[in-house]
Amino acid sequence: MGVTLPELQFTPVEEIPSRVSTARKAFLEHRTRDVEFRLVQLRKLYWAIKDNEEEIAEALRLDLNKPRFETELAETGWLLNDIIFACRNLHKWMKDEKAEDIELTYKFMSPKIRKDPLGVVLVIGPFNFPFQLTLGPVIGAIAAGNTVILKPSENASHSAAMLQKLFEVSLDPACYSVVQGGVSETQALLAERWDKIFFTGSTNVGRIVAKAAAPNLTPVVLELGGINPAFVTKSADPRLVARRMLWGKLLNAGQICTSQNYLLVDKTLVSQVVEEFKKAYKEFYPNGAKGSSDFCHIINQASYQRLKSMLDNTKGKIMMGGTMDEKELFIEPTVVQVDSIDDSMCSQESFGPFITILPVDNLDQAISLANGISSTPLGVYPFGSKADVEKVIASTRSGGVAVNDAALHIPTLQFGGVGESGHGAYRGRASFDVFVHRRTITTTPSWLESILAIRYPPYAGKIQTF
Ligand code: NAD
Repeated sequence: MGVTLPELQFTPVEEIPSRVSTARKAFLEHRTRDVEFRLVQLRKLYWAIKDNEEEIAEALRLDLNKPRFETELAETGWLLNDIIFACRNLHKWMKDEKAEDIELTYKFMSPKIRKDPLGVVLVIGPFNFPFQLTLGPVIGAIAAGNTVILKPSENASHSAAMLQKLFEVSLDPACYSVVQGGVSETQALLAERWDKIFFTGSTNVGRIVAKAAAPNLTPVVLELGGINPAFVTKSADPRLVARRMLWGKLLNAGQICTSQNYLLVDKTLVSQVVEEFKKAYKEFYPNGAKGSSDFCHIINQASYQRLKSMLDNTKGKIMMGGTMDEKELFIEPTVVQVDSIDDSMCSQESFGPFITILPVDNLDQAISLANGISSTPLGVYPFGSKADVEKVIASTRSGGVAVNDAALHIPTLQFGGVGESGHGAYRGRASFDVFVHRRTITTTPSWLESILAIRYPPYAGKIQTF
């Protein structure tokens, strides 16, 4: 392909405290307060992404065999739009807000809300969308006037090295830097004091992050995993279900936090839905997904082995696909029909191209089974009539809902989990809001003094006045 990529080098752990103090010093010198400074940084980041699109695509190809189309759809194109959106709206977002719902008496104090930056922010990213899910929050943090340290996932190593290059060629190094590493480096980072930690990754590591943040009372955003149900009700269209649900598991080979983990299919539709999956798969990959440049591989051996053992251990029946190739980290889009919600294909996050179908008697049973899984999903995907869909929405909880679709994600619409799928939201304006403190400011005019005199002691005889 003719592009040269930088190599990933872990940051020495002993360097981490000085990196954080450099970022804190820059913040305390108010370098990032100025709106023009923020806009310049964002614009430079925009051009760094644009100028390095070939390198980014190659890094993603090496890490995940990510198709160029998916790279532009969900990584570079997405981020460029995010930056344009933030730059266009930043002045508006930063504007002081007039306080609402204020009693007339206090209007004299001109109450308002200022959007102050929080300070020094740590962003920790996952491997699956290594650019979008790290630079997305970074864009919000820069726009909001914070200094930032980013820790990309070491598992997408080529992308991690490219992220560092993007920072180095575009951003002010005193304010924004990348720390590279795995568990030890991340734990050294977590031992530092932060003004916010923005973590995207698994629920288990989310717990580690939340515990590390507690001693300093550091606020955290946790964008975590999802055991997401799709509801295929009696009124659903099997073809639509199959095409859309299959797509949710083809994109990034199903390594997506928002893709459905299992489908609760009305038993009368099961065989039609399975047939439609086969048709759609044939249509999308006439020669199969193996060897296709339009299909990602699994990130690494550990994930491959985890997925393989899930499939080896299921009591379910493979209805489509099922082939694997360890050398190529390839797992075929695979439809498995199970007979219990307790099958690990339903109850554990697969994070791979498995389409698990559990037949159900009716919608009430489907809702009760989904709610029986203790983890609150990131997304819920109901298919069917308006009444059925509304019933699903009213009877479940989740970070979000995509009706008649898979993999909930709309650029600039706020996104986040609830319960075990995390807390805090970002994207669009929410990416700015999540990195600011809404600081209440009131101004008591000196001319009010004669009226305010009532509040000072001695209090005798004053109570009747109220
Ligand atoms: P992960 O939790 O293994 O890793 C995420 C980050 O945490 C990495 O940077 C890693 O270096 C660090 N890390 C790993 N172990 C650690 C430890 N013991 N202590 C401190 N830091 C540690 O997640 P992943 O495998 O990269 O990503 C997959 C998971 O992320 C899935 O569960 C998926 O659902 C979730 N995810 C959620 C979202 C979302 O927006 N909600 C998006 C993408 C992925």
